[in-house]
Amino acid sequence: KEVLLEIKDLKKYFTLNKGFFGGQTEYVKAVDGVSFSINKGETFGLVGESGCGKSTTGRTIIRLYDVTGGDIIFEGENVSKLKERDLKLFRRKMQMIFQDPYASLNTRMTVSDIIGEPLDIHGLAKGDDRQRKIYSLLETVGLSKGHASRYPHEFSGGQRQRIGIARALAVDPKFIICDEPISALDVSIQAQVVNMLEDLQNELGLTYLFIAHDLSMVKHISDRIGVMYLGKLVEVADADELYNAPNHPYSQALLSAIPVPNPDIAKNNKRIILEGDVPSPINPPSGCRFRTRCRYAMDICSKEEPNLIDLGDGHMSACHLNTIKKK
Ligand code: SF4
Ligand code: MG
Repeated sequence: KEVLLEIKDLKKYFTLNKGFFGGQTEYVKAVDGVSFSINKGETFGLVGESGCGKSTTGRTIIRLYDVTGGDIIFEGENVSKLKERDLKLFRRKMQMIFQDPYASLNTRMTVSDIIGEPLDIHGLAKGDDRQRKIYSLLETVGLSKGHASRYPHEFSGGQRQRIGIARALAVDPKFIICDEPISALDVSIQAQVVNMLEDLQNELGLTYLFIAHDLSMVKHISDRIGVMYLGKLVEVADADELYNAPNHPYSQALLSAIPVPNPDIAKNNKRIILEGDVPSPINPPSGCRFRTRCRYAMDICSKEEPNLIDLGDGHMSACHLNTIKKK
């Protein structure tokens, strides 16, 4: 396995207020020390409740945001401190597909101009070449030449997402961050878009970071999955392993909420109701951030932060129960 992307202790804090009137500056610690790597050709799923930092992780990796701390190593190059000029080159290799295709498409541009824009920005094709490339991209995502002169409002949600995908593909990227690409779509359309993303991955040798809160879809598309809670990665495992034998109490609760669980699991794993809301990322709980909602919380959980440890075969989990069991 060849590592394409390695994230080391990634942090993204947003300044909430600048500490006026002698107060302290407060930060929203949206991503607070996250490490994982993604292999070439792999789909790495990232799941968690909304507000857990998964979208911010994606946006920080592609450098839509400045990096507060940590490293992003892509193809062996540290891209965490790239300046604007070098970011342009970097974005030829890494692209993003957004949750709401309508919001991410310029409504006053024709489809042809939307898909042609990245070709122009990166100087990839001109004139007839450009036109051919646009038509071929439309075909790649299941649209046709006839769609080129039309505007985003003339399309359905699923078609708009296809336009967004065509635009992302225009620069021949190696890596695509899919940020909840199907959650705004009708259920009947979701599978179509996911299947298309899988076909494209196989044809073009793409690597994906697939961010979602729909756990059944993530299981279907992902090779490995990371579970985030309050700015931290709490578990990483092969998709099947995570669904069949989740280790972290938060993952167990998340997975127990899937409507049609694996019958083998259903026998001995009843739905776990998570009490309360996700605490504020401004002042996260000490020790284990999940402790305020964890039914196994112990003394040590408020005092020491559990590290992600390898339980075997790359199945990582950050919970004190694992170290206590071993003693
Ligand atoms: Fe629960 Fe403690 Fe494990 Fe956190 S470390 S998940 S509070 S048992
Ligand atoms: Mg999100």
